[in-house]
Amino acid sequence: MRYLIVTDIHGNSEALEAVLAAVADQPLDQVLLLGDLVGYGGGPNEVVEAVRQIDLPIQVIRGNHDKVVAEIEDGAGFNRVALAAVQWTTSVLSADNLAYLRALPVGPLEVRPGLSICHGSPLDEDEYLLSTDQAQRAFARHPASLTFFGHTHIPSLFSGSSEGAEVRILEPGDPAIDIQTGLQYLINPGSVGQPRDRDPRAAYMIYDSEAARVEGFRIEYPLQDAQQRILDAGLPPVLAQRLAVGI
Ligand code: ZN
Repeated sequence: MRYLIVTDIHGNSEALEAVLAAVADQPLDQVLLLGDLVGYGGGPNEVVEAVRQIDLPIQVIRGNHDKVVAEIEDGAGFNRVALAAVQWTTSVLSADNLAYLRALPVGPLEVRPGLSICHGSPLDEDEYLLSTDQAQRAFARHPASLTFFGHTHIPSLFSGSSEGAEVRILEPGDPAIDIQTGLQYLINPGSVGQPRDRDPRAAYMIYDSEAARVEGFRIEYPLQDAQQRILDAGLPPVLAQRLAVGI
């Protein structure tokens, strides 16, 4: 099976369209989307509709922004800019797209035995998985051998077991990751729509389960169109500016 792994699109329909176009000629069996379809960006309806129209089996879980946009939570922990974007997103989403977000399942979700997806961490959908201690705890309590996660917007890889974990920040151009049996992995593909590793290009991964290999990709997209959409929507300009620098 070949899986497309995407997360943290954040209403950036230009970035999502570029990713889908980039993989259009590739053999893919399933799409795994790890949450935060919306929030921050100016094209939430376009993103939700593009996701719903993906012509492949797809598993989608909710992210923290999806949850607040869908009014499942009130966004008490959000900063002013994030909250402004969330409120605007709720106000412009069609009833249909809002209902779609509201119905998204909570991670972790088992895709097949040994393979799962979550938004923040397998133990808490809102947790930022940043340290090897957190990874070790997750490995101990969530026994999947391979879990893809999002939320930090940083392409990264934790590997190890309940006994200990290592972390690696993934750089553009890194060789593909060979998944070894006997180890557990937590892998973040990076963000499609709001990268935060100072590389503004959209990030995604492809996981080939037969080859036991995960490969990361970065691609350019019409960034100025995404910025203009944010400004036209009257969203805080910082949301447009940050896209250009990848923070
Ligand atoms: Zn996010």
